Amino acid sequence: MDDCIREEIRALKAYEVPSAEGMVKLDAMENPYRLPPSLQEDLGRRLAALDINRYPDANPERLKALLRQAMGIPSGAALVLGNGSDELIQMLALAVAKPGAVVLGVEPSFVMFRMIATFVGMRYVGVPLRPDFSVDGPALLEAVRRERPALTFVANPNNPTGNHFDPEAIDAVIRHSPGLVVVDEAYYPFADHSFLPRLLASPNLLVMRTVSKLGLAGIRLGLLAGPPAVLDQVDKVRLPYNISVLDQAAAQEVLSRPAVLQEQASRIREQRGVLAERLAGVAGVTVFPSAANFLLFRVAQASRVFEGLRHRGILIKNLSAAHPLLADCLRVTVGTPEENRQFLQALQDTLK
Ligand SMILES: *Cc1c(COP(=O)(O)O)cnc(C)c1O
Repeated sequence: MDDCIREEIRALKAYEVPSAEGMVKLDAMENPYRLPPSLQEDLGRRLAALDINRYPDANPERLKALLRQAMGIPSGAALVLGNGSDELIQMLALAVAKPGAVVLGVEPSFVMFRMIATFVGMRYVGVPLRPDFSVDGPALLEAVRRERPALTFVANPNNPTGNHFDPEAIDAVIRHSPGLVVVDEAYYPFADHSFLPRLLASPNLLVMRTVSKLGLAGIRLGLLAGPPAVLDQVDKVRLPYNISVLDQAAAQEVLSRPAVLQEQASRIREQRGVLAERLAGVAGVTVFPSAANFLLFRVAQASRVFEGLRHRGILIKNLSAAHPLLADCLRVTVGTPEENRQFLQALQDTLK
């Protein structure tokens, strides 16, 4: 039976999601805050009244209009919705996967870029970042010229490093790329700048966003904004009804009161500063700058520190074996002030 599974799929390690039961969960860049009780009740009523015996709206125009408004999408841009931005990455890859076509990215970055390239049989080329995690502009441009990528992904701010890249370097990639360039703005609620204002000036630029990091990771909803000529084609590989009735309604209910999640995001940004400062004050810890809702830090014997935290009920992400540039690096999501305090206490106890 194994013989019928493609070699490159058998060689893959499945995307791992560790159990977080009973733990302080700071591993997955989730917003730690729940919805206010009145909104929970409105949401419950709305979901109860849905026709779940019917297929979802296949082209939810009202939800799209709400997302345009909430995110400031330029009016000439088209939108495609995905079941999380992961599905959009997959749709893009499916649409361009000619034999021999290349997906380009930087390394280390979001692992799904490489995984999905493999799923669809494309070659993935990752250009290493510099040791300070800034983008190596000349090396990236050289890769664009050499590989002629059909699809380039730039997560900005980047995951797992948390930093913004030099916008000029990204602009150069957009200008010189023969293929599509996707700026993945999953962390836009916590970021300092966006590529949305440049959208329609470049025929090959797409901006991808998700509501996951904003506070709705449990509904699966991402969006791709860009030129209609491109997105009309990408939309053809979207499976019908990819956004469920429940997801559509929940997004509408919550996003029609945008101040709720915006306020939570601003608390998270504030706590990011507090946590970064306290973490940097722990002896032996180096914290990297972040424009996202997590912090990357380096500490000697990171795997042992990770295990020590886990024993103390704190789940973060161990990246020390993920890429040579991430040696001894761990990533912690910014939680509530109380969760952050517990994390710092457990870290200090572990390091003792
Ligand atoms: C978390 C993350 C995503 C995934 O978003 P979903 O919408 O939850 O699928 C995409 N890109 C980056 C860079 C991320 O960190």
